[in-house]
Amino acid sequence: MVEEHTIKRTLVEITDDPAHDERTETEEFESNRKKLISMGITCFSCGSKEKLEAHHIVEWAYFNKISKRKMKKLLRVFDPYGYSQKLIKTTIKDPDDIRNLIILCKKCHRLKYTGIHEVSFPAWVAQACARDQEIILKK
Ligand SMILES: [Zn+2]
Repeated sequence: MVEEHTIKRTLVEITDDPAHDERTETEEFESNRKKLISMGITCFSCGSKEKLEAHHIVEWAYFNKISKRKMKKLLRVFDPYGYSQKLIKTTIKDPDDIRNLIILCKKCHRLKYTGIHEVSFPAWVAQACARDQEIILKK
């Protein structure tokens, strides 16, 4: 058996960000964020009720470059609150669509070494599935 150990690595990511408008928090985004939080939804990853934010599953800045059909297909698989199933016949016209949002606390969203914007998908998913109190992503 391999003993528990720490892996430290540096990820290099190079993307072609398409032209897009300056990021603003639209009324739809804020309305959907509040709607999800008012339903008692907690951080998807750690369950926290503190400092809740809405994360775009398909990144906001890439919306003009992606296939909406593929986006809808992905969001049918990753449908944490059931809205893709409920709105299955409705076109996704905006990255702030409720189907594209997931509630995360600030730590699981943006913090260096733990946030979904800062770590690899496999590491973040493992942390989201960690047993209670278990820490996989370390500072
Ligand atoms: Zn969290």
